[in-house]
Amino acid sequence: MSIWNPWHGCKKISPGCANCYVYRRDESIGKDASIVSKTNDYDLPLKKNRQGGYKLDCSGGVVFTCMTSDFFLDEADDWRQGCWDMIRQRQDLHFHIITKRIDRFEKCLPPDWGEGWDNVTICSTCEDQARADYRLPILLSLPIKHREVICEPMLGEINMEKHLATGLIEHVTCGGESGSGARPCHFSWIQEVRRECVRSAVPFTFKQTGAVFIKEGRVYHIERKLQMPQAQKSGYSYIPNMGLAEQIKYTLPDRQQLFARLGRSAFRSRFYLTDKDKAYVREKGLDTVRRHAQDIVAKRLSAENPANDGKQTPMKGHPVFIAQHATACCCRGCLEKWHNIPSGKVLTSDEQAYITDVLIEWIASRL
Ligand code: SF4
Ligand SMILES: [Zn+2]
Repeated sequence: MSIWNPWHGCKKISPGCANCYVYRRDESIGKDASIVSKTNDYDLPLKKNRQGGYKLDCSGGVVFTCMTSDFFLDEADDWRQGCWDMIRQRQDLHFHIITKRIDRFEKCLPPDWGEGWDNVTICSTCEDQARADYRLPILLSLPIKHREVICEPMLGEINMEKHLATGLIEHVTCGGESGSGARPCHFSWIQEVRRECVRSAVPFTFKQTGAVFIKEGRVYHIERKLQMPQAQKSGYSYIPNMGLAEQIKYTLPDRQQLFARLGRSAFRSRFYLTDKDKAYVREKGLDTVRRHAQDIVAKRLSAENPANDGKQTPMKGHPVFIAQHATACCCRGCLEKWHNIPSGKVLTSDEQAYITDVLIEWIASRL
């Protein structure tokens, strides 16, 4: 991996820019980051070493491009074509361009861009729902071969499910904000985007906690050097079928507290067994219904990414289905939110047995 900064300096345009690290770093050395200028590295991809080889020689490697500015900044309009020429010439490298200005992309393309270039990934950032709603439809509508999304610094809950479902986004990264004055990042926001990625089988990286991290109502102030390691250690990144989530540590809820919480939920406490359901359970016996529950849990919930997740549990037709809705064992999202069982992993036999127990406990209590 290498970095190529053809110009330096930028203009703030988005809530995510408030604590921009380019500004922070420049301020610390008395420099004005709002002045945009070409760097000495402008033609780095073509620079040669004494042996006549390319200086930037990481064949097939990723080149993070324009990391101290924005590639689509209008101040750089006169310089960009030269960059495209170099990118075209260096087919052995993969250029990764992160932008907050995806809405300028079309105006900034080289004439032979066509359907996009194989050696370029365009990554749109979106730090909150408003930015996601505006930028992601643009990102998806453009001729681009490789698309990624970065939600960093994540400033609010973001739902991007419908965009992920297109299959056109290759990777999503989320993370909190660092530095003094950092705005808080809630773990629940990270989990929500991760669940959406799991459902669409999109790789997901939880990059860093940020300096102010809120988890289960507690505020954690995390020092800079621990922000990335803690995110990595959490196991909350996701690559389909890699079993990363197996390392996630979690505790099942206390059963009494769980039932008390479910009782306080207007939605969950709406579910009840009809006389017909009760007669069915009495006729079959709880042991048989337990076997049905085991079977339903295994078939509909246990895969890493169950088919139709979120909609796999009918509202009626079997007392176990009713119990699933009443106890929030209806889908992997609810299992994560109510029972702490991480989504994106194959359920172990212990986890399946726990869910079955909860379902049967609820059914038995209704008879
Ligand atoms: S677009 Fe990026 S580099 Fe430019 S001000 Fe915003 S955060 Fe900083
Ligand atoms: Zn559910």
